[in-house]
Amino acid sequence: MYLQVAVNIHIYHTLKYATPDETTEDHCSPDDNALGLIFSESTSYKNQNPDVLTAEKAPDRYPKIMVGCRVLVTVGSRELMGVVVSEHTKNELSRDNATQGNIKKILRFIDEVPIFDHNVISVLLWAASYYHYPVGEVFFSALPPLLKSCYPAKLPEIEGWEKTETAAPEKLLGRSCKAKEAWNCLQKQSLSTADFKNIGIPGTILKGLEKKGLLKRINLRERQKPWYQGEISVNHEFTMNEEQNSAVTEISAKSGFNVFLINGVTGSGKTEVYLNIIEKIIRKGLQAMVLVPEINLTPQTVKRFYRRFSVPIVCINSAMPAKERLNSFLLFSSGNAAILIGTRSAVFTPMRFPGIIIIDEEHDSSFRQEDGFRYHARDLATVRARMENIPIILGSATPSLESLYNVKIGKFHEIKLLRRAGNAQPAKIIPINMCREGQFHGISDSMLIAIRSELEQNNQVLIMLNRRGYAPKIICHDCGYIFLCSNCDSSLCYHQDRHILLCHHCETRYPVPSECPLCKSRNLTVTGNGTEQLESCLKNHFPNESIVRIDRDSITKKGVLEQYLQEINDKKHRIIIGTQMLAKGHDFPEVTLVGIINVDSSLISEDFRSREKLAQLIIQVSGRAGRATKKGRVLLQTYWPNHPLLELLIKEGYNAFASEELSRRERLKLPPITSHAVIRGSSPSHRSLSDLMDEIYFYLLEICTEYPHTKIHPPMAASMERKGNRYYLNIVIESDTRAELQKFLTSLIHHKNEIRRANNCRTVIDVDPSTTF
Ligand code: ADP
Ligand code: ZN
Ligand code: ZN
Repeated sequence: MYLQVAVNIHIYHTLKYATPDETTEDHCSPDDNALGLIFSESTSYKNQNPDVLTAEKAPDRYPKIMVGCRVLVTVGSRELMGVVVSEHTKNELSRDNATQGNIKKILRFIDEVPIFDHNVISVLLWAASYYHYPVGEVFFSALPPLLKSCYPAKLPEIEGWEKTETAAPEKLLGRSCKAKEAWNCLQKQSLSTADFKNIGIPGTILKGLEKKGLLKRINLRERQKPWYQGEISVNHEFTMNEEQNSAVTEISAKSGFNVFLINGVTGSGKTEVYLNIIEKIIRKGLQAMVLVPEINLTPQTVKRFYRRFSVPIVCINSAMPAKERLNSFLLFSSGNAAILIGTRSAVFTPMRFPGIIIIDEEHDSSFRQEDGFRYHARDLATVRARMENIPIILGSATPSLESLYNVKIGKFHEIKLLRRAGNAQPAKIIPINMCREGQFHGISDSMLIAIRSELEQNNQVLIMLNRRGYAPKIICHDCGYIFLCSNCDSSLCYHQDRHILLCHHCETRYPVPSECPLCKSRNLTVTGNGTEQLESCLKNHFPNESIVRIDRDSITKKGVLEQYLQEINDKKHRIIIGTQMLAKGHDFPEVTLVGIINVDSSLISEDFRSREKLAQLIIQVSGRAGRATKKGRVLLQTYWPNHPLLELLIKEGYNAFASEELSRRERLKLPPITSHAVIRGSSPSHRSLSDLMDEIYFYLLEICTEYPHTKIHPPMAASMERKGNRYYLNIVIESDTRAELQKFLTSLIHHKNEIRRANNCRTVIDVDPSTTF
């Protein structure tokens, strides 16, 4: 028996010396020498360390199912961890001469039960081939951080208690009421430490009884009835309206793999639809996977799930402690949890009882992994649902053009929710023409008047400015010197709160200067404005108001956002300021005015997706107004109130904008109608990078002749050419069809060895990039 094992040499390196962090770029560098696959002869394992697996674990030392388990293999003089991808017979192997000389030894199995099941493995192999990324690295990025080492994949225990004797001698129980109460509680069933805590009996009492030999600790997980065998109770908050009902009926009517796009205006009750569908799914004993953009930004949504269902729910996101994350992964993949709510990487969690996948806010850019193994969780989730043969729901008030296009060509079923749930009225968007407006620190007079009037009626207002810090630039008023980051082509942002200058691209901090390094003048000034400045300006205007600011600088610790949201709900603050973080699905029922400051720069961006992103941002922020019974309005500051995009969006709404934008992409031959890939090169040396990129470019031109519908653009500087002391150049590849692009990229990988390896350069292929810059 031979096994194919995916290993990742590069990650192994970093593991040895540092804690792996999924989001850092470094350990995923693209052109490292990762071995994609190696073959290992597991029979030779028998002669190896017979004691590495303890006898109690596996009777015959092999796991029953080997595929999906982690193993240790020797490569050269090193031991590497890998994941078994497939099993092969000797015959199969001898047909494949290429692998013959490449047989390594398996030292031992780390797992007795597979970490990944067949479907997840198929998705990972598909992803490696579609995104043209080494198999080993793809498998490693799908593993929960702790499992990237030899850490055991063991389900967490639930500490519980049971009695050692049926009747306790009075004097042993002592005089403590709590001890007696604990003893009585255990009369009929065993309880967990957490259960005792809930009824006011602390662990110390239990430990005391344990010392006296009256109680003993047990693992309740082994005793408890799983959720799918028990009664499932559900708390309904309201009855669904007609639109919601028919959405649920339509989705439930189809079985097997189907993609549904719920295109529903903000506040139309999409979440309510998900919850009702999930109820049907879990009542069948099946599981639901819910992917959300950024979990720590949506505590309200998570709470709603907990309030609704009695079944076990787990969360996965990169901000949580590694141990907790591993527990969630294991509880869901073993079927012990019914619902998983997670961010993009949760898409790789196996499902024991696959029921449904739901992607909330499917347009959100955080579903795209932007370094290392670059993938789109929405696209992978769709592939996953197809392999599991289950339905998938994508939901948004501002669907991506990709999904709308898929509706257009008949791949996705669209379900529209046109009305706001309950009695909420849609908010009206009104542009403020900045050309003739008086303004103060970037806020127009009209905006200030509107804010004052809302406050007088005891309403809340929300002001969005998509730039954090105090001001994006600091310059010398005498000679024009601009303070720049020494590592990037970027000006430094002044942060008043932290009293630093900060580069928003490499996060380097600099002290606040007192004089100009060129002319020594002390006449330094800031230009432009960020949320901190907005806050101090509004404080000046409304000195008696409490203002809360929500951006990456103010939300640094876990729980802070939750606290702020609660305070806003309690009306402790009536002015809410923030960046696009405010657009992420929060419910602010008392907000009646949304002000949007300065979005003009997105209207002239070269990036073809910037119009789509701007429209989504405007509609999403606007959706925060008037969510309850009060009617809301949105004021949008712009120098171009007659810009066709704004006019269409304001007059006819997102769907009209989207269909216009889709025709524009069709005319200009842009994705999602055509397909893109970008070869991204970076290096500390501009010279060697540009030499290498030229070489690649001419090479691509050569093979391109066989691909009539594929076009290669010459190397071009990235939107920021120098970042963190590295230079970035891109080659954009455009194909009329996805199929041809894939063929082209595959042939490219085949020829990869012909491309010279430049020492200090890295290159990576970015398929379906979120931006070509
Ligand atoms: P979305 O996910 O589309 O933004 P939600 O499901 O969060 O919408 O619903 C928006 C608001 O409307 C929430 O406050 C929710 O409690 C309420 N809501 C949803 N469905 C109903 C309904 N059928 N009747 C009354 N209120 C509803
Ligand atoms: Zn100067
Ligand atoms: Zn920098």
